[in-house]
Amino acid sequence: MQLPALSNSYAQLPERFFAQSEPKPVSEPSLIRFNRALADELGLDADQLTSPDGVQMLAGNRFPEGLQPVALAYAGHQFGNFVPQLGDGRALLLGEVVDVNGIRRDIQLKGSGPTRFSRNGDGRAALGPVLREYVVSEAMAALGIPTTRTLAAVLTGDPVYREVRLPGAVLTRVAASHIRIGTFQYFAARHDTEALKILADYSIQRHFPQLAGEARPYRALLAAVVAAQAELVARWMLVGFIHGVMNTDNMAISGETIDYGPCAFLDAYDPATVFSSIDRVGRYAYANQPRVATWNLARFAETLLPLMSPDENEAVAEAEDVLRSFQASYETVLQRGFRRKLGLLTEADGDLQLAADFLDVLARGEADFTLAFRRLGDDLDTAQGQGATRQLFPDPDAFDAWSARWRERIASEPTDSATRRATMHAVNPKFIPRNHRIEEMIQAALGGDFKPFEEMLEVVTRPFDEQPGMERYAEPPQPDERVLQTFCGT
Ligand code: AMP
Ligand code: MG
Repeated sequence: MQLPALSNSYAQLPERFFAQSEPKPVSEPSLIRFNRALADELGLDADQLTSPDGVQMLAGNRFPEGLQPVALAYAGHQFGNFVPQLGDGRALLLGEVVDVNGIRRDIQLKGSGPTRFSRNGDGRAALGPVLREYVVSEAMAALGIPTTRTLAAVLTGDPVYREVRLPGAVLTRVAASHIRIGTFQYFAARHDTEALKILADYSIQRHFPQLAGEARPYRALLAAVVAAQAELVARWMLVGFIHGVMNTDNMAISGETIDYGPCAFLDAYDPATVFSSIDRVGRYAYANQPRVATWNLARFAETLLPLMSPDENEAVAEAEDVLRSFQASYETVLQRGFRRKLGLLTEADGDLQLAADFLDVLARGEADFTLAFRRLGDDLDTAQGQGATRQLFPDPDAFDAWSARWRERIASEPTDSATRRATMHAVNPKFIPRNHRIEEMIQAALGGDFKPFEEMLEVVTRPFDEQPGMERYAEPPQPDERVLQTFCGT
């Protein structure tokens, strides 16, 4: 059989970086969905991978000769507690491809069976979380936010047991790499400075090759990861995304969103929103995400200290200096983003206050975050005191007062409303994967009906298009439709 030959540069690293591992075959693999557009981008043959042999490969049942999958070793802080050994407990890196843009990307199976790192887990994934990851990761990509991608989802034909019996599934994940903050922590916890240096050099070469010639390459690596994470989290905030489990093992140093578990998007704007059932104290609430990212990056910086300088005090001072750059990077992306969301084409004093006040009006009116920004663009040709946005507020007085200020501000910029609307609609999505629709889609799939999954995927991967007829995906939940908790993918 002809299947893609994958390289594996990570498996060339020292043996203590991973464990060679075979997937556990499944009974009856069947393809749920294959991402042809992504396959093209990766230079993979979609027909080959959707053939019966290809589906066997995507289920972990049979591989081309020479392919040697590995489970990656890593550690991590989970809800603040350090766990010195986690690792791929239900995932296997099959190998890498160099995509059409020359970027090396990992191909990984998730849910392919136990590995040396499984602890007490079964190494499997249930259908629901696999479909959620598929839809949300592809929506994030369409929103222009750095993320791992989903190449395929297959049903295994075998049950998995969580609180109940569920259909098992395997997801094929594509990532710039699977190196996490926790990967560095794994070696730091073992005082393995040699491995840390190898990992840091590999990371620079793979993700930040422009830093290779720097006089202080490890300081530069820290700065690059800080900047990438600051930008990522700012972009989450701009679309109301809540990751849900920002443990250090779930933060990729590439700056991609990774490990979609109990993630969700805000409906009504409330900075304290938490969805994850395991996040009892709101550690990973929407508004906490930038703070958590800086905390995680401080853990990353600690692992690099021995590489940065032989003098520990000097290394610490340097690391602290770099960590402080998070705030400026974060604010730059956030402020630029909110200006664009409000349709402001120039910078003026008071813009940030205008944005902050809008969020405040949304919070007090419990208005839908996504719809509110989208409708501002729709309302550009309506008169003050009218339009669709104010209908989101039971008592629109506060919105009306804010809107008068906003209209005055945009009137100071000479642009026609069609142009302004186009720039606003290009950053304010009409469609996000709303939690209540995800739950509905999962329930349908558990009953054997994958049409809602297919439809939702189509809709949310064109988030900025009007898509008449698909309004039900744009609407926030009715009170009885609200999903208040999401459960971890395990
Ligand atoms: P997560 O919360 O999904 O980021 O996973 C945290 C850790 O638990 C990682 O080391 C995973 O590989 C591991 N893990 C999660 N689910 C399973 C499972 N069903 N079987 C084995 N390991 C798992
Ligand atoms: Mg994880």
